Parts: sequence; C-alpha cells; structure tokens
Amino acid sequence: MLNDIMRLVTEYDGEIGESILAEYNRQERNLELIASENAPSVPVLAAMATVLNNKYAEGYPNARHYGGCENVDVVESVALSRVKALFGAKYANVQPHSGSQANFSVYQALVRPGDTVMGMRLTAGGHLTHGVTTNFSGANYNIVRYGVDPVTQLLDYDQVRELALRHHPKMIIAGASAYPRLIDFALLREIADEARAYLMVDIAHIAGLIAGGVHPSPMPYADVVSGTTHKSLRGPRGGFLLTNNAEIAAKLDSAVFPGAQGGPLMHVIAAKAIAFKEALEPEFKLYQQQVVNNAKALADAMLAEGFKLVSGGTDNHLMLADVRPFGLTGLDLEKRLDEVFITANHNSIPGDSLKSGESGGIRLGTPTITTRGMKEAQMPLIAKFIKLAATKFDSAQHLIRDGVRTLCLEYPLYRADGIDA
Ligand SMILES: *Cc1c(COP(=O)(O)O)cnc(C)c1O
Repeated sequence: MLNDIMRLVTEYDGEIGESILAEYNRQERNLELIASENAPSVPVLAAMATVLNNKYAEGYPNARHYGGCENVDVVESVALSRVKALFGAKYANVQPHSGSQANFSVYQALVRPGDTVMGMRLTAGGHLTHGVTTNFSGANYNIVRYGVDPVTQLLDYDQVRELALRHHPKMIIAGASAYPRLIDFALLREIADEARAYLMVDIAHIAGLIAGGVHPSPMPYADVVSGTTHKSLRGPRGGFLLTNNAEIAAKLDSAVFPGAQGGPLMHVIAAKAIAFKEALEPEFKLYQQQVVNNAKALADAMLAEGFKLVSGGTDNHLMLADVRPFGLTGLDLEKRLDEVFITANHNSIPGDSLKSGESGGIRLGTPTITTRGMKEAQMPLIAKFIKLAATKFDSAQHLIRDGVRTLCLEYPLYRADGIDA
C-alpha cells in the first residue's frame, strides 16, 4: 500500500516522490526519540489517501452547509462516538486541524481578548498556545505564567493557587509539551474552583497514555479537554476537543466552525476514527504500558550513564536530560545525534540560561520506538549511544551508526507490514 502510493507519486512527480521515499527510508533507519511523534498504522495512513479529501462538509453531521454529505456524516459520527467512548466524555469535536487550532477554539469559546488566562511557562514545559507572546495566545490575552519548583522541578501547585487567587484568571490551562511527571488534575480543579476559573486541560502529549489507562484522566475535573491525535495516541495529525458540559459543547462547536476553521478535513477525520478504534482495543493498553515502561527504563539507563534528568526521572512517555555538564548545548547534541541516525530535539530545561534556540537540554520520548516493538532490554543500549555521542563523538560515531542500524533492522517500522521500499 505505502509502496504503491510512493510509486504512483514518483511516476508523475519524481522530485516529490523521491523526497517521500527518502523520508520513508529515514524513518525506517533512524531511532525516533522525538516525544511528540509516532508512527500510525497503515490503515490510518491509507484513509488519508482517499476521496474523502474531496468533500466539503462545513457544519456538523446532519447539519451541513453542503449537499452530498451522507457518507462523511457517517464517518464523523463514528469518530465522535468512538472518541467519547475512549475518554468517557459526553461531547466531542473532532474537526480541529491541529492541537493549536483546538486550543485556539477553546480561547474563542470561553474567553475574550484581554481576559486573564493562566498557563504553564514555555521553559517549564508549557506550549506556545499556553501564552507565548509570539503566539495568538500571548499576543491577545493577559497571560499569567506559572512554572515548576526550582529545586524539585515538579509543578508548583502552591504557586498556581497563589497566582490564581491574586490575578483571578478566567481560565487556567493545564498540560504541557515537556513535563515528565503526572499532573494532579483534581488539585487543579480545586484551585480553579477557588479562583472561579474555567479549567482547560491540554492532553496533546498524553492523550494516548490516558486512553490506555496509564495516566490519570482529566475528564472528571476539566471544563474542557483539548488534545492531538498524532502524538502518543498514534493517529493522523490533528486535534480534538472534549467536554461533559452541554453549554460549553455548543460554544466549542461554534468556536471551531465557523469561529476558527472552514471545511473539515474529512479524510483526516476518517483516519482519526480508525485510530480511535485501535485505541479501544485491549492491545492498546499494553502498548501504552510499554511506552511508560520503556521511558522508565531509558531514564534509569540515562541516569546510570551520568546524565541529570529534570525532576530526576519520568512518570510518562518522556524525559528531559540536562546536557550542560558535558560542555554541550541541547542543539549541539541534537546535531550529533542526527549524524548517527538518532532523532531528538533540543529543549529548554527549568532555569535554563541558554537561548531557546540552543537550550541546555534534550527531550527524549518512547512512543515511536515502542511502536517498533522495542522493550526495556533495548533502552540501556540507546542510552549508551547518546552518552557516546555526547562524550566521544569523533571516535565512536561509526560504532553508534552501526549499532543504530542493527537495532532498527531488528525492529522495523513499516517493513514489518511487508513494505520494502
Ligand atoms: C503538540 C502540542 C500542541 C499543538 O499541537 P499541533 O498539532 O502541533 O498544533 C498543543 N498543546 C500541547 C501541550 C502540545 O504538546
């Protein structure tokens, strides 16, 4: 299937076809440790290469602005009922084109420009849409930022409460892109109640863990939950919204369309539906448990190799290693790893004095290597490769490249499905 698609594209457009093939080969060859990435199943990818792409379906199932929507109505209704079952939500919206669009829609639904909103600071692990000044959020809302305790590097709930009672935000945003620990949603609900604020929980990174039952769910506590389908959830690129409140659900629907978007991407919504079906299978729980087990094993191995980890370890699918003690920036190590076929990203760490373009840390995640079938036993080797890249790059680079090649051949990504491009 993937072969056929690549061949078809290449026959007409060699320039693009060859880049797709090269990217396919890069993904097979490299150890993917970017915590926000994953590799969905062939049916999920296949759904996006269908004629559903062609259909305009502004509106919602059985209430569209275009004719001919009887089939896409079924697709979107199935996606909605599956995502609601998966997270135990009464209402859902599966149209956001991305996590950022989903978050934009929450602001659009619940607050007005100029209102006070609280979000986690970017350098503490927060996301652009939680109040960074170059993003719509920081540009249009009065953002109050909270962070982590400088010593424990754990979310500072006392600070969240103190800031919330002082600034009276209309909405508190919880959730992160680079926070390695569990988040206490019940406590944040208490704080939001004390401050009479909405509680929005952004589960973009941890949606798969929550669906798989290895991270507590915010559903009983949050007014709105936003998420992405392409990270730990292992679906197509895209966003979704959940709530148990009918009034908020109606506001979210009009905030997504017509508030933030025009026509939905029906081919992507079909792929989301397939990913939700997969996530409802019992095997998905085992996969998510393995993601977390692998992260713990990788964290232990990184500590054994002499790396310092933010907060000392991990409870979820990711960790942040401080690379400054090796005389490197995160960007230096990211570049070295790229040369030996290991993909990761430099990331600010709490209290970082380096510019965000360089950063003192590197973020490592296990969703994709777990999708490939790797287990705890492979993690010490990966930590060793990273340590060698940090300390003996010139002399060890050949050895690392060979090791990565062997490991990735043993745990194929799509070649296991009979694809050999
Ligand atoms: C990835 C992420 C998003 C945004 O997702 P995009 O699809 O890249 O727009 C939003 N919030 C958090 C916490 C994220 O990690």
